[in-house]
Amino acid sequence: MIYFDNAASATPFLSAINFVPSHGNPSSNHKAGYESACMIRDTRLLLSSLFGGEANHYYFSSGATESANLIIQGVCLFLKKISSNRNEIVISEIEHPAVYNTVIAMKKHGFIVKIIPVTQNGIIDTNVIDKLINKNTAMVCIMGVNNETGAIQPVNHVFKTIKKIDDEVITICDAVQMLTKIPASPDQKYVDCFFASGHKLGASKGIGFFYLSDNIMLEPLFIGGEQEGGIRPGTENIHGIQSIALALKEYIDMGHHHYQHVEKLNNTFFKILTELQVPFFVNTQGAPTSNYVISISFPDVSSKELIHYLSQKGVCVSRGSACSSVSVSPSRVLSAMQLGLDKMNTTLRISFSCHNTLDEVNAFCEILRVYLQGQMMQ
Ligand code: PLP
Repeated sequence: MIYFDNAASATPFLSAINFVPSHGNPSSNHKAGYESACMIRDTRLLLSSLFGGEANHYYFSSGATESANLIIQGVCLFLKKISSNRNEIVISEIEHPAVYNTVIAMKKHGFIVKIIPVTQNGIIDTNVIDKLINKNTAMVCIMGVNNETGAIQPVNHVFKTIKKIDDEVITICDAVQMLTKIPASPDQKYVDCFFASGHKLGASKGIGFFYLSDNIMLEPLFIGGEQEGGIRPGTENIHGIQSIALALKEYIDMGHHHYQHVEKLNNTFFKILTELQVPFFVNTQGAPTSNYVISISFPDVSSKELIHYLSQKGVCVSRGSACSSVSVSPSRVLSAMQLGLDKMNTTLRISFSCHNTLDEVNAFCEILRVYLQGQMMQ
């Protein structure tokens, strides 16, 4: 099998899924509990050393969707509770449903949602930002790297501008496809909250983390014990947290090498396609993109049929995000880029991990060539 759907779930590092986890409850007052508590503390320290900010500002949850909900809903409920005038939320048009749908759902609590449009190659339109911010703005959510296109968003630059306009606006960054995949990470000088999921980093599923700066006040969505500062009560997912720590250790040891390797996979893919002279269109043309995600369309070739063919040949790619792949409606992200139905229906998302090889890229291109040339002859 050739697995090029790593943006949906990355191939895990063996070291991050095959290990004997601590098993004590970290809240217990004995050696086993203490060992688990130490492991959690060390993982927070690791996050802080890699992505900045203080260790005790990192919290664990089940993943990015839960983190987005805890933060966005939690802040909205708090603002309601204190009868704040801040009732506007600004988001980019290309946010993942974890953020987009959560923000839209806040309309029922009286929040007004304002949308930042994107340019044709999938980058947010920075010219409109200052027009969307006013004294009622509660928060702004912009993702670091888009999961369908790989387009890198100028988050630190935009959040800096927003904080200059009004430093009480809460800035939130979905960093799921950003952390460890591109050299930049959210800058805590301008970003109040960010979050990521373990299974996108080579750790196990069902675990994620989020960062909250000091100035964030939110209502917890769950009621329970004091774990995670009461923001996310319930016994911690020890296995998942340890898995994140182990995946990040791989990143510390090999991250630079992984980055260069994936860049080579990406360049090789385009080099071979160009040599084969098959027509293709890169949806993010001219935009800065992550090497890990490619959004490409092959004119007149139905991506639905191509994906089916590739799957039969043992190649896993997708049309867009895994969450929306069951949906029959066109991708919201590609629609926002105004690509037109012909491009949207012919778009593939190819997403690499450091486990992929050049041989796989070669084999994939050969399978593509056979299919595409067959289509051209029809
Ligand atoms: N944000 C982005 C950019 C994603 O790619 C994903 C998953 O595809 C999520 C959020 C949601 O992550 P999870 O399904 O792990 O909660």
